[in-house]
Amino acid sequence: MNTIKITGVTHSSHPQHELHWNHSNSPYICNGCNDFGCGPRFSCPNRGCSFNVHGDCCRITPHNYVTNYPFLSGSNSNFVLRRSSIRPGCQVICNACRVYIKGGSEYYHCDNTKRNLHRSCASLPSTIKKNINNRDVTMTLKQRYETRCLYSECQRVNGGWSYFSSDDRYNLHVKCWKHREVTKLTPPGVTRRMI
Ligand SMILES: [Zn+2]
Ligand SMILES: [Zn+2]
Ligand SMILES: [Zn+2]
Ligand SMILES: [Zn+2]
Repeated sequence: MNTIKITGVTHSSHPQHELHWNHSNSPYICNGCNDFGCGPRFSCPNRGCSFNVHGDCCRITPHNYVTNYPFLSGSNSNFVLRRSSIRPGCQVICNACRVYIKGGSEYYHCDNTKRNLHRSCASLPSTIKKNINNRDVTMTLKQRYETRCLYSECQRVNGGWSYFSSDDRYNLHVKCWKHREVTKLTPPGVTRRMI
C-alpha cells in the first residue's frame, strides 16, 4: 500500500481549516460529492467539524482505486473518472450495487470491461465484520450474489457484488450494506438521496 503524506490540503467547500489524511476505516459521507465512503479519507481535525472528503474528491490521490479489488486485479480493467450524462435515458447502472448513478455526478467507468461504479463503490472495504447471532463474522467482498441477503429490509437483487462469510452461509448485498451504513450516518429527519 502506498504511503500518502500530504499536508496543507484544503477543500473549496471548507476553506477555513486544513485537512489531514485520516486512516480511519469507519464509514462517512463525503462532504465533497455527498456520496458514501469507507476507509481512509481527508478529515478536518477540528473537533466539531466532522468534515470528510474522499481522497479523489481532493484531486490529490491517484484516481485508480478500483484495481485494489483482488477479483479485478490481473483483469484488463482500467477505471477512469467521468461525469454521467443528465440526458434522460442515458442513465448508467453501478456494477457493484446495481443502483443507477445519478445524472451529472462523477463515477468510474472502465471502457475495456464496460463496467461502471459509483465513486463510493470504487473504494469498498474488501472485508467487513458483522455480528451475527452474537458471533463476529468476517465477510469478504465477492463479485457474485444471492437473490436475498442478511439485511432485514433486503429487497431482491438481480446482480451486483456481495459480502460473503467464509462458509458462504451469510451474504450481504453491497446495495444493502451501503443503505444500512448511510442510514446510520444520517440524522433522523434528514432525507439523504443515494447518489
Ligand atoms: Zn467524494
Ligand atoms: Zn473544519
Ligand atoms: Zn454502486
Ligand atoms: Zn440485500
